[in-house]
Amino acid sequence: MTMPFKAQTSSSAASSTASNAAATGLVSIDLKQIGQNWANLQALVGPAQCGAVVKADAYGLGADKVIPALVRAGCKTFFIATPSEAEETRARAPNAVIYALDGLVSGAERDFARLGVRPILSTFAQVEAWDNYSRSKRQRLPAGLHIDTGLNRLGLGARDARRLAGDETLRASLDLTLVMSHLACADNPADGKNRDQLLAFETLSALFRGVPRSLAASDGLMLGKPYQFDLVRPGYALYGGQASQSNPAPVTPVVTVTAAILSFSDVAPGETVGYSATWRANRPSRIATVAAGYADGVPRSASAPDGRPAAQVRIAGVLCPIVGRVSMDLITVDVTDLGHRLEQVSHATLIGPGLTIEDAGYAADTIGYEILTRLGRRFERVYLDDGA
Ligand SMILES: *Cc1c(COP(=O)(O)O)cnc(C)c1O
Repeated sequence: MTMPFKAQTSSSAASSTASNAAATGLVSIDLKQIGQNWANLQALVGPAQCGAVVKADAYGLGADKVIPALVRAGCKTFFIATPSEAEETRARAPNAVIYALDGLVSGAERDFARLGVRPILSTFAQVEAWDNYSRSKRQRLPAGLHIDTGLNRLGLGARDARRLAGDETLRASLDLTLVMSHLACADNPADGKNRDQLLAFETLSALFRGVPRSLAASDGLMLGKPYQFDLVRPGYALYGGQASQSNPAPVTPVVTVTAAILSFSDVAPGETVGYSATWRANRPSRIATVAAGYADGVPRSASAPDGRPAAQVRIAGVLCPIVGRVSMDLITVDVTDLGHRLEQVSHATLIGPGLTIEDAGYAADTIGYEILTRLGRRFERVYLDDGA
């Protein structure tokens, strides 16, 4: 699985335009596995349909590559967040249904209509604005409807949902193609809030008879059939993430991140390593300096293991702790125990087999989602098996 670092930029069977400059780091993204993850989830939720959330540049992995891979796998419904994501998504998925989760951001009517992207209306005012725009164009432009069932983030509350359902003129002129809500605690199957939201969604969505329904993201769809309705909306699971520790999804990681080791240094007991001298050697130590820092997506919070286990990277097959501060371009790693195994070593693995995005997130007091979406743009990117 781990390839020799130097060989990758030139000989990989990938489509990325390999630059001539020597890469200090490499992000490899397995597009075939993303397609397989989608297919696994589709098989799990059928007869419900499995969509794909590709907001935030497909969680940082590159929407331009990820969306076509999902189309090839058979995905027909995509979710983005913002109007700025609409254009590229439409270009990469010309025939797909595309929903915008952030709703009708003011002024976005024209672009959404032109691109055939459906806003998921989340306030009564947005419903009226979309309806007015549609009438002015003498069209019934499709849209989704977001109902809040307890997350208290986006969506019409119960009262507005009933008001809309009771407004026969507005209902007749609106072309609602999806009614959705979002779960607050689906990563914990034991949380009673899941059932409360499920019941609220069943009640409120019934006001819009015949409109397809969606409640679950990556974690929610693992709560079982009652949560899957007509359409599920995974993002994280497609990219190999496990949103719920207790309820693992049938998916496999897709991202590997490696970075070059720039130097080794020997540090005497009592000496410190890095900015602010936060780490002090208590034995003769060997430190590897690796070309990855917070500008490359290693959170600076991975440097201060206050009670948490130290963040780790894999060098010569062995998990080794990051010591001292993460800086913009560099981390320092304690490789004292590796001995002669360091002789042939040229790189460290930051994300890969046995080092999940969840591990990296936990060690930095964050979640795997943030690790993915903050992967830096400075490393070389290689897309495996993109079928192009
Ligand atoms: C981001 C998002 C999703 C996807 O969530 P994952 O946990 O990545 O599967 C689904 N629905 C809504 C409303 C979202 O904001």
